[in-house]
Amino acid sequence: MLSAFDSAKKQLDQVVLLLEGEYQDREKLHKAIGLLKKPQNFYRKALKIKLDDGKNASFPAFRCQYNNARGPFKGGIRFHPNVSEDEMKALAFWMTVKCAVVGIPYGGSKGGVIVDPSALSSAELKRLANKYAEFITPFVGPWIDVPAPDVNTNGQIMAWMLETYEKKIGTHAPAAFTGKPIALGGSQGREEATGLGGVFVLEEYVKSKKLKVKSLTIAVQGFGNVGYWFAKLAGEAGFRVAAISDSSGGIYDKKGLDIDEIAKIKEKKGSLRINITNEELLGLDVDVLVPAALENAIQKPNAKNIKAKLVLEMANGPTTPEAEEILFKAGIDVIPDVLANAGGVTVSYFEWVQNLHGYYWTKEEVDKKLKPIMTSAFNDIQQAVEDKKAPYRKAAYFLAVKRIIDAMILRGRV
Ligand code: NAD
Repeated sequence: MLSAFDSAKKQLDQVVLLLEGEYQDREKLHKAIGLLKKPQNFYRKALKIKLDDGKNASFPAFRCQYNNARGPFKGGIRFHPNVSEDEMKALAFWMTVKCAVVGIPYGGSKGGVIVDPSALSSAELKRLANKYAEFITPFVGPWIDVPAPDVNTNGQIMAWMLETYEKKIGTHAPAAFTGKPIALGGSQGREEATGLGGVFVLEEYVKSKKLKVKSLTIAVQGFGNVGYWFAKLAGEAGFRVAAISDSSGGIYDKKGLDIDEIAKIKEKKGSLRINITNEELLGLDVDVLVPAALENAIQKPNAKNIKAKLVLEMANGPTTPEAEEILFKAGIDVIPDVLANAGGVTVSYFEWVQNLHGYYWTKEEVDKKLKPIMTSAFNDIQQAVEDKKAPYRKAAYFLAVKRIIDAMILRGRV
């Protein structure tokens, strides 16, 4: 299997031919593509902290700043044992593409620490967060690079990092981090933003295909932040969510599920009332399959079992390139992660805007501002799907990479 960053570069190569039709100066285009195959900056450091038992421990840490032609770098910080330089580069590239897909004025970046945070106490986690913030302070900031939470990091960790950063620079700078708790300048509506953005995209797809919301059934893999909010809000929008799962298995009822009731039971009992496996969920006879858990959920062996007519990628990277080939041949549309889950970074952008102005919006204002961004991103891509006769991912990459390259050319970088 290709490494994550090799897959990312392959996705870039797949749109070069389409882009050649857009630029008279092919040399500039190819120079820009060459620049887009590597990050602008890559920082690394071993973070040394004292453990509660008095011993010292060291954790490799990274910050990858991919491209900032369209605006400050923007990307989360991941604490996970599988973090690697290759993964950082791929995720930072995908952030660059995602921000361009929804047209928000950011480039892309990503950071991470190779650590199993579940093995650390809260005090050790705080020391690690403080060390990471010290490491990145010289090269992040509201107009430089704006970090946010990612896998295994959250609002509390952003709060600890913000405190370290502000102490170092000697001034308040809430716009230096997003995904903060509301009390420190976080945005209303951020928690559900990724799920809500996905529902807006699905509604536009349904309109474009002249389908009826009420007739469509959905299966959702994953019951975390993204899966829960997507399923709940899709149900409220009139779709029938027939199945949902977490890592232990799934629950299916073709008549439709009450997501809040399931969440209550899960909270009380610690697990779902399981009647199907995760593999069975992927092959259910539903209209829309929504992977909202992990990377590589849909691979070559299980892609051929998929009966849904649409895969809406709410997780990052849930479909391998080989699986996508199989889905394409079967006539199954795939709405890519860089569009489907971009509601999260869009509300992070709203958080940054509010912090810069020191003026805060209600949840209703946030949701109202999110909708036109998601719907016009979908409609731009739908137009490119029709004009270029390309699948959704290729159309999204074509538009996004063109926006990035246009900015690089305007700046005279090529
Ligand atoms: P989370 O940790 O809150 O939830 C993950 C869920 O996946 C959990 O319910 C877990 O039980 C489930 N899961 C794990 N392994 C599984 C398996 N094998 N089968 C079925 N379910 C499994 O994470 P999240 O924030 O909901 O993120 C989910 C995905 O969405 C990730 O790929 C993440 O990168 C992406 N994403 C998240 C956001 C956001 O705002 N949270 C934004 C963009 C993209």
